[in-house]
Amino acid sequence: MDPTDLNTLRQLMDNRGWRLQFPQALEAEFQADYALRYHRHMILSGLLGVLAILGPGAVDYFWMPEVADQLWAIRAWTTGPILLLLMFSRTSIATRFMQPIIAVCAPVFVAGLVALSLTALEPVNHYYSANITMVMLVVFVLSRLQFMWGILSAAIMFIVMNTGFGVIGQQSQQMMIIHNAVFFISAVFSLLGCFLFERSLRQNYLQSRMLSFEKMGLEESNLRLQYLTAIDGLTQIANRRSLDMSLSTEWQRALRKREPLGLVMIDVDHFKLFNDTYGHQAGDECLRGVASALKDFARRPGDLAARYGGEEFVLVLTNATAQQARVVAERVRDKIVELAIPHQRSSHGNVTASFGVASITPSNRHNGPEALLLAADQALYRAKESGRNRVSVDGEPVPGQAVA
Ligand code: GH3
Ligand code: MG
Ligand code: MG
Repeated sequence: MDPTDLNTLRQLMDNRGWRLQFPQALEAEFQADYALRYHRHMILSGLLGVLAILGPGAVDYFWMPEVADQLWAIRAWTTGPILLLLMFSRTSIATRFMQPIIAVCAPVFVAGLVALSLTALEPVNHYYSANITMVMLVVFVLSRLQFMWGILSAAIMFIVMNTGFGVIGQQSQQMMIIHNAVFFISAVFSLLGCFLFERSLRQNYLQSRMLSFEKMGLEESNLRLQYLTAIDGLTQIANRRSLDMSLSTEWQRALRKREPLGLVMIDVDHFKLFNDTYGHQAGDECLRGVASALKDFARRPGDLAARYGGEEFVLVLTNATAQQARVVAERVRDKIVELAIPHQRSSHGNVTASFGVASITPSNRHNGPEALLLAADQALYRAKESGRNRVSVDGEPVPGQAVA
């Protein structure tokens, strides 16, 4: 059973019945979660029990001074081990075995009450024996003891009580019938509460697990969607949409910081001829190669390599002057040449690209990043005009001859 499988959880939910046991892996997780979640309940129940044993001791020296010392000794022997246990309840062993520990230690309270009842004088002794009912309620319902452990605990309490009152106390048959009848009724009701509690807690656990699965699924598809809307399917770099978004963000940032924003527009040379010669699939492969070469040049936070459309790409360079952007463009040009993708119908023999570079320090007189795109596009046009495979910078003369 894989607890990370939503269908398995659904099946478990649909499966009516006692629902007090999950498949192994899920059960382990449930128990770990349970121990953490209900640790406070256990502490509170333990402290209440200790208080119930110690509290009435306040009247011992007034009501029955002759046995007060003995009564206090019993109170100390009962609550001491419990307090010790509560102190160590945060340790990993105690957390891991919380249920069996409660099941085995809860009868200590019953033993204490039986001893107090046998030692105290009439009529106070009846108060102590009646309190066994309260112990059961606290242990089985408040401490969140699980049903199966509850049964074990009740069985130990039964033995402790009968040994105490019957064997040690030698109480009459009539008293034993009363003790056992009260014990039986309290046990049935407390264990029923314990059972119903556990069943609904398990149901809630399944539901919350399913909900978190569904949430995870939603988050995953959300991320996937975000990815799909931002990334170009063919080249796996940013698409036009994310270029527009990040360009306007970077434009605003540059405006605030009074920094230049550089942009390189790249167009593969004679790409139509490449497609015609080598086929569309080879064309796609070539675009992927150019894109991955380009990607490495978006180095600073805010820099972006994007597919502008068709065989055109854009490189956004934050805090870059035209000269700095030109240096990067030259490197990209070299890198594309180094890819050495054969192109027999290009004068170079390999695939090359032309580059238009522009840089603007945004100010309020500019309309927005369109000005930058336009300037780079015009520079690119001039690079094409003057022979391709070269870098042209906005506002500067284009180098007269091919630079490679
Ligand atoms: P120039 O040097 O002047 O840029 O010439 P060119 O042939 O590169 O430019 P043109 O605009 O005439 O042709 C671009 C070609 O790019 C046409 C189109 O079929 C091709 N193209 C556009 N998108 C894709 C694509 O996703 N895959 C492939 N294989 N080809 C594409
Ligand atoms: Mg083009
Ligand atoms: Mg082209």
